Amino acid sequence: MVHRNYINGQWKTGATVGISQNPSDLDHPVGEYARAAAADVIEAIAAARAASSAWSTSSVQRRADLLDQVGNELLERKDELGELLAREEGKSLPEAIGETARAGYIFKFFAGEALRIGGEHLSSVRPGVEVDITREPVGVVGLITPWNFPYAIPAWKIAPALAYGNCVVFKPAELVPLCAWQLADMLHRAGLPAGVFNLVMGSGRLVGQAIVDHRDVDAISFTGSQAVGEDLRRVAAGRGARVQLEMGGKNPLVVLDDADIDVAVDAAVQGSYYSTGQRCTASSRLIVERGIHARFLGALLRRMAVLKVGAATERGIDIGPVVDESQLRTDLNYLQIARDEGAEPIAGGELVERSTRGHFLTPALLRAEPGMRIAREEVFGPVATLLVADSYEHALALANDSPFGLCAGICTQSLKHASHFKRHAQAGMVMVNLPTAGVDYHVPFGGRKGSSYGPREQGRYAAEFFTTVKTAYVFAG
Ligand code: ADP
Repeated sequence: MVHRNYINGQWKTGATVGISQNPSDLDHPVGEYARAAAADVIEAIAAARAASSAWSTSSVQRRADLLDQVGNELLERKDELGELLAREEGKSLPEAIGETARAGYIFKFFAGEALRIGGEHLSSVRPGVEVDITREPVGVVGLITPWNFPYAIPAWKIAPALAYGNCVVFKPAELVPLCAWQLADMLHRAGLPAGVFNLVMGSGRLVGQAIVDHRDVDAISFTGSQAVGEDLRRVAAGRGARVQLEMGGKNPLVVLDDADIDVAVDAAVQGSYYSTGQRCTASSRLIVERGIHARFLGALLRRMAVLKVGAATERGIDIGPVVDESQLRTDLNYLQIARDEGAEPIAGGELVERSTRGHFLTPALLRAEPGMRIAREEVFGPVATLLVADSYEHALALANDSPFGLCAGICTQSLKHASHFKRHAQAGMVMVNLPTAGVDYHVPFGGRKGSSYGPREQGRYAAEFFTTVKTAYVFAG
């Protein structure tokens, strides 16, 4: 079966058929999908525009019921849908099932939020005049997502977009179309009116660009690479569209001399290597104070030695494959750049074979200097750099010495240092004695500097992007 695009309430074939690969088993692709033509995107945008007026004023009970139904289905089918995710994206089965459940909770959270769309009422400074401040939907929103969280990232864009009364044109990453199709199928069966939600699959250059360029798309929420995000911002903002970008990180995990060693090693292993390091919140810089350095490194290497790399759906593995050949080339290329710049490889970074043909790379650790590219640029793979700090102040300065600012972590038992770090880390999110990756679904997500642009995603803060404020003055006489 070819998984088709979903446009104006209909399942439609595209210009060509694409194949979705299984990075754990390249000889057994996951399935086929329809790749949309530019004309399909234009049709989807027109359908969204036509549906916008009715949906923007639709009953919030109806929106809540629809989103709740999708949330419930994700939770009920989390094992089966999680297995698909593991096969298509390559994260381990427990991680994939966890992500599916999280997507379910996101839909249920925004089902509740639909009922809580509020405003403010004030007296005017002019006698007899009342002022109402209300939130209205933005209109047609384009949602462009990456491959690393095939359900959760679309969920945290689609659910608030619909909850607040917007119509959606959704373009998932080319590597994970079948997961995106599952979301569309659930939304379709939940009974969304035609045109309110549309799925168009295919390349960024064609399908994504057609969304970005179209003047009927009022807002674009994008998660992906910095290069694409910056281009997208120029084009979309240039034509007056609202833009929200999430573009990655080079997240520091600071380990101070007084850290609980088990907590610190757990945070480092989980943050750096789980999900194959393919998370924008991954800890890719381990900044370790000199006094604990030897002990921390010893304990970390012992843990790394027992991490199992293997096929995503195999029981007992910790780390699945790299998502595709292009990402694998990037990972290996960065390891080479690091060696060329004089970084010292400590462990891992080796291609390994398993019973199926896949992109299996062992978690890599390198000792680096702060100015090296491996310590500054996002790799998006199971690669962490170790930097040594002379003091807390030095560690904080190293943590902040980055063009990115998504998440910053610290392991310490000192309330003083934890509080100072929480206040002074230049990041949108801070973790104390926790991995930098792994966030809640009901609170804001986003970063500073080169990591993000525009309002935060998730939680109640999602309203900042998906609604526009109206101030109404009424003189009743
Ligand atoms: P990643 O490496 O995480 O896939 P990308 O930035 O390449 O990051 O892709 C993120 C999303 O942006 C994907 O859905 C991709 O297809 C899309 N995309 C890529 N290029 C463009 C573009 N020129 N215009 C719009 N979307 C694009």
